[in-house]
Amino acid sequence: VIEIRDLHKSYGSLEVIKGVDIAAPAGHVVSLIGSSGSGKSTLLRCANLLEDSQSGEVLFCGEPVTWKGEGHNRRPADQKQIIRIRTNLSMVFQQFNLWAHMTILQNVMEAPVTVLGRSKAEVEQKAREYLTKVGIGDKCDVYPAQLSGGQQQRAAIARALCMEPKALLFDEPTSALDPELEQEVVKVIKDLAAEGRTMLIVTHDMRMAADVSDHVVFLHQGRIEEQGDPETLFKNPQTERLQGFLSATQ
Ligand code: ATP
Ligand code: MG
Repeated sequence: VIEIRDLHKSYGSLEVIKGVDIAAPAGHVVSLIGSSGSGKSTLLRCANLLEDSQSGEVLFCGEPVTWKGEGHNRRPADQKQIIRIRTNLSMVFQQFNLWAHMTILQNVMEAPVTVLGRSKAEVEQKAREYLTKVGIGDKCDVYPAQLSGGQQQRAAIARALCMEPKALLFDEPTSALDPELEQEVVKVIKDLAAEGRTMLIVTHDMRMAADVSDHVVFLHQGRIEEQGDPETLFKNPQTERLQGFLSATQ
């Protein structure tokens, strides 16, 4: 569904992604791990075109992004393509980013109604289904501030699902949560993986990465240092850097 080839991205003269290839094929879960500053969030944001990149390709369902300009002037050329990609890659953030002045139901309904132009009645039914699926079907009419962090994050996941995207992108979905609340969210992500959803997940939670991923990518200073299936990667890391990283995160 999502593929990135030889991507390079700099902020000014600071190159933070130095030629990365990564792919999340349909039905696969790919986790991105690596220390702070290694470029994980940047890579996710390049995948859904929230960030520009200077060279390399981004493909969505096999369709390459068309660019205009070069280097620091390179931008996606086709507005319709940008919208198609953004609406099909729903992002879930560390800080939930729910709209405080809307109820949970309104939060989940907002984008499908305003961005996709779906009918309110149809979206409301779907929204209630997704909220029930993530275990907070009884919280439709409350505001985000009235929920725990774990409930807010599950609402954010329901909101992403209600767009019926081709893939979900998660940026540290559990790192703002206390350990007990974290498990509620991990369970939802595991259920989504078991359903065969396509997901690209940036996480510090090695146990979750090991449990849900088909493939794990270890990023170090903007390059892929090591990658593989979780079983091999976590049990038998080959590079010293991954060995060091894993022993530091135990
Ligand atoms: P963390 O685990 O802390 O979230 P990360 O792996 O997600 O880290 P990124 O946020 O992708 O790392 O950052 C990669 C590098 O890019 C870092 O050196 C960071 O300082 C730099 N960077 C990120 N965003 C910007 C920005 N808007 N302007 C300039 N530099 C940035
Ligand atoms: Mg980050």
